[in-house]
Amino acid sequence: MAKTKTLTQAQLRAIREELEAERSQLLHQVADLDAEADVKNWREGGFDDDPADAGSASFERETAQSLSNHARRQLIQIDDAIRRIEQGSYGTCERCGERIDAARLEALPHATLCMDCKRRDETGR
Ligand SMILES: [Zn+2]
Repeated sequence: MAKTKTLTQAQLRAIREELEAERSQLLHQVADLDAEADVKNWREGGFDDDPADAGSASFERETAQSLSNHARRQLIQIDDAIRRIEQGSYGTCERCGERIDAARLEALPHATLCMDCKRRDETGR
C-alpha cells in the first residue's frame, strides 16, 4: 500500500464538523432515551396484574437504558476526538504514535488507533 496520507486542513475541518454534528445528535438521543427509560419506569407500576406486560415494559426500559449508555460512550469518544483536534494531537495513534491514515479517519473520525495497532488489538484478544 501507499504511504500513509495525512489529513489536509480542509479534511480536518470537515471531520470536526461531522464530529460536532454527531455530538449534538447523540445528546438529543441520550435525552430521548433517558426520558423513555423514565416513562417505562413510571408505567411499569400499572402492570402489576399482567406479568407479561410488566416484563415487556422492563425489557423496553432496559433496551432504552442500554442504548442510552451506548450513546454516552460514543459521546465520550467524540468529545475526546474534538479535544484532540483542538490540541493538535488528532490523527496520531495512541499506541504507537504514528499518523493514522486519512482515509481511516474519514471513515471513523473518532479512531484513536492506526490500522496496525487496531489489528493487533483485535487479534490479541
Ligand atoms: Zn499504531
